[in-house]
Amino acid sequence: MLLIKNGTIIDPSQSLEKKEDLLVRDGRVEAIDKSLDAEGAEIFDATDLIVAPGFIDLHVHLREPGYEYKETIASGARAAVAGGFTSVCCMPNTKPVNDNSSVTSFIIEQGRAAKLANVFPIGAITQGSKGEQLAEIGEMRSAGIVAISDDGKPVLDSGLMRRAMEYSRDFDLAVVDHCEDCCGAADWAMHEGEYSALMGLNGLPGAAEDLHVARDITFAELTGARVHIAHISTARSVDLVRRAKQKGLAVSCEVTPHHFALTDKDVYESSYSANFKMAPPLRSQSDLEAIIESLRDGTIDAIATDHAPHHANEKMLEFDRAPNGVIGLETAISLTLDRLVHRGVISLSRMVELLSTNPARIFKLDRGTLKVGVAADVTIFDPNKKIKVDASKFQSKSRNTPFDEWELKGAPVAAIVGGRVVWRNEKG
Ligand SMILES: [Zn+2]
Ligand SMILES: [Zn+2]
Repeated sequence: MLLIKNGTIIDPSQSLEKKEDLLVRDGRVEAIDKSLDAEGAEIFDATDLIVAPGFIDLHVHLREPGYEYKETIASGARAAVAGGFTSVCCMPNTKPVNDNSSVTSFIIEQGRAAKLANVFPIGAITQGSKGEQLAEIGEMRSAGIVAISDDGKPVLDSGLMRRAMEYSRDFDLAVVDHCEDCCGAADWAMHEGEYSALMGLNGLPGAAEDLHVARDITFAELTGARVHIAHISTARSVDLVRRAKQKGLAVSCEVTPHHFALTDKDVYESSYSANFKMAPPLRSQSDLEAIIESLRDGTIDAIATDHAPHHANEKMLEFDRAPNGVIGLETAISLTLDRLVHRGVISLSRMVELLSTNPARIFKLDRGTLKVGVAADVTIFDPNKKIKVDASKFQSKSRNTPFDEWELKGAPVAAIVGGRVVWRNEKG
């Protein structure tokens, strides 16, 4: 038994925001009430802290099987809980690709063995994510995938994407797309604009994303599939999603912390640091402003990290040769609080919606709520604690973050999974 006392419980799934106690028994939420008492329960004092349904990251890369030198399922799950996430959904671009039930089962087993965050695998849309033939979607569904995606790459063949969306309905799975049409810029290194010109790097225009988002929304309407746009990054894309929602289409989208906190000017000022290189690239100031507005008005459904570990040696390559991706699990909560909550863009309750309630809804996970009887996944955080990011102390195996040494206000304090405190910031 675990009794979390004196915290402010915020649970948008039951319109709850009040100072009460939360009692967990046998791994499930037993009660939420004032001044609860339970003989023999372990007490967690949450005075001045926020107690929320466990945060769910819809988009991480755990690198196992195949690239264990970057991250393993266990090290990724450790980074997740140290960042306040109780569940992560991992993309299939491992080696081998998660395009069949044996890889799916392997990931689930490794996740269970780690006994940290829940690990929910996402299956590939196409075999080997090569974009040629559909993967064994039904078989992977039975083995436990929660969505399908070829993330890392877009599905360029429109006919194939249409069929994938039709199949997805039969299996009740969301289709997650990495929206990037080539636009004649296959070897891009950053966003196309004044800074790519100044830096002499090939640019990828925002239009590359916009075109693909428009196609996927068109297919969402045609097929009735649930379509989720990964890491949305441009002003026009969020506008397309806004209009799709007004039409009542089943379209949702996520944004990463780096896309709401950084722009292409930061790439320029980093002097070619590959820790500012990712797909989609950091966009313009006007794109960032449109992203912030879409977080405010509800167009963006979720914050997801696109946690993408790479070894230091890989990121040491010249900017245009270095691999895309940055890690994000251990900085997401602090960036969300500092950049969005404390700047008045969103409320704490909307933050919980973006990191828990909505992610659970989008992938239909039995999570994202503290209703009595559900699995007791709980994230506890301190909205006012000041921290300085120290990448050398990360639980992730990799260090490729653009946020090292940033001073931020707000931090995770504990992660509780199935009623067990799996991580707690001992420094208080
Ligand atoms: Zn992607
Ligand atoms: Zn990704």
